[in-house]
Amino acid sequence: MVKRFSCWYACIRGCEGRIPMGGTVYECPRCGGLVDVEHDLDTLKERSAEEWKSLFRERSAAAAWPMSSGVWSRRELVLPSIRDEHIVSLGEGRTPLVPLPRLARALALRELWVKQCGTSATGSFKDLGMTVLVSAVRQAISDGAPLRAVACASTGDTSAALAAYGAAAGIPTIVFLPRGKVTPAQLAQPLANGAIVLALDGDFDDCMRVVRDVTADRTIYLANSLNALRIEGQKTVAIEIAEQLGWSVPDWVVVPCGNLGNVAAIGKGFLLLRELDLIDRLPRIAAAQAQNADPLYRSYQTDFRRFDPQQARATLATAIQIGNPVSYERAVLVLRQLDGVVEHASEEELSIAAARADLNGTYACPQTGVALACLEKLVAKRTVRVGESVVVVSTAHGLKFTAFKAGGPEQGLSGGGTRRREPIELRANANVVMDRIDRELAGLGRE
Ligand SMILES: *Cc1c(COP(=O)(O)O)cnc(C)c1O
Ligand SMILES: [Zn+2]
Repeated sequence: MVKRFSCWYACIRGCEGRIPMGGTVYECPRCGGLVDVEHDLDTLKERSAEEWKSLFRERSAAAAWPMSSGVWSRRELVLPSIRDEHIVSLGEGRTPLVPLPRLARALALRELWVKQCGTSATGSFKDLGMTVLVSAVRQAISDGAPLRAVACASTGDTSAALAAYGAAAGIPTIVFLPRGKVTPAQLAQPLANGAIVLALDGDFDDCMRVVRDVTADRTIYLANSLNALRIEGQKTVAIEIAEQLGWSVPDWVVVPCGNLGNVAAIGKGFLLLRELDLIDRLPRIAAAQAQNADPLYRSYQTDFRRFDPQQARATLATAIQIGNPVSYERAVLVLRQLDGVVEHASEEELSIAAARADLNGTYACPQTGVALACLEKLVAKRTVRVGESVVVVSTAHGLKFTAFKAGGPEQGLSGGGTRRREPIELRANANVVMDRIDRELAGLGRE
């Protein structure tokens, strides 16, 4: 616990009143809207920007638990009320920011980086929020809260993260998945970690509805990203990006979006850094959606005056196949403050963009493919201009999406435009092999 620093829940729509941390709070008691964690900025500002920077630098160098975590090494800005013995960390955060100079040149960008959030314990950025939520639950249970389990609805990665952190803490977990709509790797994860895995016949939005009902009696804690604690952990992505760029920001940050918690969190992180003078300007945000699940994109077309939940259609980007995003209001607030735009990408566009990035050394998951495709479209429209710098947030590890990577019809959906990737089968004979290599290399030169 870091004394002095404090935070509380407050309504994002601006209702009066502060709600103390520690309880089971998902929404504003007055209007039923979302709550966010608000920090005591006056106390945070008692430390100068330079002092914060050198503190973070020292902690990276020390690297002892729990400061080895990219989340807990910023604990004053995340959740200062957690006592050390309740921290449940699997070494989340501190993910690489990888430059893609050849792709940057091809897009006429000054610089292009990928923030590899999938390089993480369970292979997605969801670990960042889950370490905070599960630590808070562990502390609440130790303080006497009558909680029997923690539950979430998931498009695959949330359940993997919840199951892993729950297992580490010894807290029972229950995950709700849309049956047949997560990858085999994502299904194997919560099963391995001992979660109660419920596959419902419906889509993510149906699972979300059921988990809200199941958690209504407050003895099963709700771990979805409507829960403000998740947002606090996820906002450290912004802190890491700024630190990795020498406490500066890119012109743009592109984020694949489903339930809209992550884009809200990343925006919140940059706003906090600006408030504390750790950065001197804000990046613009580009929210990227799959065309088959694009309620935010459609709302953006009305300048966010209208919002119509939709029935999400099937997309290769299964982790963002969401038609009724719970953090819609949070996301709009952030997009307004960071001069945000929203773009969407078709199945073909996301497949081609992911394949192109892979030829630059990534192993992009389909959601990252959506972000990359939207970036290309924004460049073509000159919304992202020649010479600008861009960070694309890669939300999961490509290894969770093997069928997508292998390409071809077994994906069940057309990833049209990318060629089927198969090994070349040959006799084990050096001459045959050498001959084929010569032809293949000559072919590469012509492409
Ligand atoms: C959860 C998830 C997203 C979407 O994040 P939201 O906060 O729901 O918008 C994107 N990509 C991957 C890989 C995810 O697991
Ligand atoms: Zn309210």
